[in-house]
Amino acid sequence: MIVVLTGAPGAGKGTQADLLSALKGFRKVSTGDALRKHVRMKSPIGLQAEAVMARGELVSDDILFEILRQELGPKAEEMILLDGYPRNVSQAKTLDSLKDVHPVVAAIHLDVDPHELVNRLSGRRVCASCGATFHVTMTPSKVAGVCDKCDGALQQRTDDSEECVRTRLSVYESLTKPVLEFYKEKGLYQRVDGMGRTEEVFGKLKGSLDGLRLA
Ligand code: AMP
Repeated sequence: MIVVLTGAPGAGKGTQADLLSALKGFRKVSTGDALRKHVRMKSPIGLQAEAVMARGELVSDDILFEILRQELGPKAEEMILLDGYPRNVSQAKTLDSLKDVHPVVAAIHLDVDPHELVNRLSGRRVCASCGATFHVTMTPSKVAGVCDKCDGALQQRTDDSEECVRTRLSVYESLTKPVLEFYKEKGLYQRVDGMGRTEEVFGKLKGSLDGLRLA
């Protein structure tokens, strides 16, 4: 079963999926993380995706289908938290075509004010070694520039630069927002208020997921 976590860049999908996947029975699948891994490995997919990602644009649907196939695997025992896919209606239809094996049971929209998104993205810092995420003012590391978890170096993602953030937000508005309608029509859409502290949002999301597990 799949729960799609959707929302604009900077809404906190990855952070929340990390927290939720620490709970028993959940697994996070992030297409962004998978693509970044391919870029680091300089695999054929990574070599094709790197420049597109650096511009903040969407990588091709064909590549994303291959990523999805690799990451979802055979019928999963856990509930998969899908972060970063689908990013357009065509991808939503592709995911729908896998429903016999991987049915989507909910699409949870983490809703955050646009001005807050820019603030979150511009202050985000990511550990180059373990991928842990911090924010320079909201969730700072104990020592500036150093990861609390593994002492790795904290860096700004190349696509968190101001120009790239603008592109990513406009791609979200034009291509990803229509995906919300797709799931509304299927009766799978749920909105969760993504404003507020990480723990508060986590509590709300966990409530929604517990509701699904009981259903
Ligand atoms: P994310 O970490 O989810 O913000 O993704 C980082 C970048 O990876 C995006 O800006 C896109 O360039 C690419 N990407 C991730 N997921 C997708 C997707 N489903 N479709 C196309 N491109 C994607």
